[in-house]
Amino acid sequence: MMQGLMMKRHVLISDLIQHAELHYASHTIVSCLVEGAQVRLTYRELAHRSKQLAQSLARLGVRHGDCVGTLAWNTHRHLEAYFAISGLGAITHTINPRLFPEQIEYIINHAEDRALLVDLSFVDLVRTLRPMLPSVRFIIILSDRDHMPPDPEFMCYEDLIASEHGDFSWPDFPDDQAAALCYTSGTTGHPKGVLYSHYSTVMHAMAACRNDALGIGPASRILPVVPMFHVCAWGTPYAAALTGAHLVLPGPFLDGASLSKLIEQERTDLLLGVPTVWLGLLDHLRQHKIRLAHVRQVVVGGSAAPLAMIREFAESHGIFLVHAWGMTELSPLGTVNLPTPELMALAPEARYLQQLKQGRAVFGIELAIMDDNHQRLPHDGKTFGKLYVRGPWVASSYFRSDDRSSFHEGWFCTGDIATMTADGMMQIVDRDKDVIKSGGEWISSIDLENAALSFPDIHEACVVGIPHQRWGERPLMLVVADHEPDQGALRDHLAQHVARWWIPDRIVLVESLPHTATGKLSKKTVREQFQDYYLRQHSEEV
Ligand code: AMP
Repeated sequence: MMQGLMMKRHVLISDLIQHAELHYASHTIVSCLVEGAQVRLTYRELAHRSKQLAQSLARLGVRHGDCVGTLAWNTHRHLEAYFAISGLGAITHTINPRLFPEQIEYIINHAEDRALLVDLSFVDLVRTLRPMLPSVRFIIILSDRDHMPPDPEFMCYEDLIASEHGDFSWPDFPDDQAAALCYTSGTTGHPKGVLYSHYSTVMHAMAACRNDALGIGPASRILPVVPMFHVCAWGTPYAAALTGAHLVLPGPFLDGASLSKLIEQERTDLLLGVPTVWLGLLDHLRQHKIRLAHVRQVVVGGSAAPLAMIREFAESHGIFLVHAWGMTELSPLGTVNLPTPELMALAPEARYLQQLKQGRAVFGIELAIMDDNHQRLPHDGKTFGKLYVRGPWVASSYFRSDDRSSFHEGWFCTGDIATMTADGMMQIVDRDKDVIKSGGEWISSIDLENAALSFPDIHEACVVGIPHQRWGERPLMLVVADHEPDQGALRDHLAQHVARWWIPDRIVLVESLPHTATGKLSKKTVREQFQDYYLRQHSEEV
């Protein structure tokens, strides 16, 4: 065998911030703080402050391989923590504060976090959990002296870093070392940890920037509304440093009015978030007759994008909604549905229907559809099966877990059910556990929800399969709407989109729907609540 004659260099997360510091020193980051202020700083300043933080953490005893937890919004301080902790060789453990306190306690203890970096919003939470967190040696509040809570144990972030000079060289170490840790919001059992390496993180960031993915470069002005505690804000903090992109961090202000103001003020051109966030933004824009002027693309993922949203972004704002699919286990980028020439040549309605699909794999990710016996299924756009993935930024096991049930011969079983076309277009049919089996046939809850969302005045829809005397399971639809929808008209509308026998036996108007910590519909809760809905009706009818 003839070896290539190229250098072997590690690719580390510290290289990203160093690159930004050296080549895009004057490019900027805008950060909205919990305290209310807005901070604007350059990559030079960000890099310096990250080094000061790295020095503080090292002085406080943080070592290679230690987990350091963060409970924080998207701000420059959180971003500095990303670079400082991983740059030192420790592990940035981002904690989702929307999880139940018992889950937060579980994951901090499971990761054995040595320290916590906490935004003011979560001080009460940390006070309550403190006695149950034996591994935590110290807690830093991500704020300045004027806003510090009185607790003597808490250390002040700005004071700490101000006491360091920041003249610091990032250490070099193998790039397969752990860099960051994220727990999935799994709805059954304990949350599971996904442990990213430096290599996987940098590879993912490079992939995310490419034009066949999110197309991020030095002229980009990006607003990750997706939180830095949800799969590292989909890798945007790393991608921004890699390219020197202008990064806009919204802090805790994720409502339509605040986002709209920030988008206009910063002339952002790329926005990223889950569908519920865009529902809020679109509501606000509609009510106030605002047209987004500078936005080129909005990326949506985490849950299926509804047709009405795709249409409204296109027709009211001239914005292409990029539908992306991914998972915590995929760092998270798996597929994107981009405006290819073939797609843009279609008439608008035909194009919107294509945009409902989750897209093509990003280079580096391989997809396969398999049956229950791990046999490959055809890519004919119709046959659906379990979606498997593999690639350099896909998890190969869970952190401190011997549960191998999702891993099979080098593939990761996503738990999603999908179809693929011959030219590689993937569409999620459902989550494995959410797909509805009625009289032995499958019904896609996502298709039904999408159809309902294109009916006037319906804001949100949720379809679950619940036990039925005759059919085993039948779909039940819950809708959030301005008023009780006309059942007949809604049924006729659904019949234009799906097979008649898919149409739910009952459509129930509700005030709101439950969501998980990552903004997905919590179908488990709905199923539990409506468990015996059809069985009860049956016994009343008999
Ligand atoms: P998480 O690990 O919290 O990011 O959740 C990953 C799961 O979210 C996937 O396995 C899918 O079930 C779902 N998901 C992510 N993106 C999409 C999408 N674009 N359409 C439908 N479901 C999605």
